[in-house]
Amino acid sequence: MTVKRAIVYIGVGSNLGDKLHNCRHSLQRINQLPGCEVTACSDIFKTEPEGVTGQDWYANCVVEIKTRHTPFQLLKDLLAIEYDMGRIRTKRWESRIIDLDILLFAKAIIESNDLTIPHPLLRKRRFVLEPLVQLAPDLIHPILNVTIRQLFNELPKGSSVEVLKEET
Ligand code: ATP
Ligand code: CA
Ligand code: CA
Repeated sequence: MTVKRAIVYIGVGSNLGDKLHNCRHSLQRINQLPGCEVTACSDIFKTEPEGVTGQDWYANCVVEIKTRHTPFQLLKDLLAIEYDMGRIRTKRWESRIIDLDILLFAKAIIESNDLTIPHPLLRKRRFVLEPLVQLAPDLIHPILNVTIRQLFNELPKGSSVEVLKEET
């Protein structure tokens, strides 16, 4: 019997070291996970840090994968990739070599101590919605019941982001 694969969107961010390399390397690592296949990637954007001051800019992109993992298995594997790539956790929103957030996992809605899906700040973040709208404009947010394009269009003006390098 074949298990149906879920389509999942992962937010990728880096603001330490070789940021572009870190983003790309994390994609390779995700693609190498058993039961996971990277199927699309947005451009990589240069963005200003949100919620903190005095930090270097971020490289951000969104990757689409197909996976046989459960959401909790995937979270564990993504945290292991972050750790392997040298991420050290100190306080919230600290500069980081790599950050891998599960944005959407098929139509799943999960609210647990360790995992919230869809990602709770998705609707507020241009640095997430701008790359995500490239990949999945018509996807419907399972809680808000609106498309990603609608969420993107509703973002407040201002904090625009810039394409750093087109993903090939
Ligand atoms: P933010 O959530 O505001 O983007 P962050 O990514 O900087 O913050 P981290 O320190 O990387 O936060 O993660 C802290 C914890 O968040 C993780 O250990 C994980 O258990 C939890 N978490 C909850 N929901 C998610 C999710 N959808 N994707 C990834 N981690 C999540
Ligand atoms: Ca994050
Ligand atoms: Ca994170």
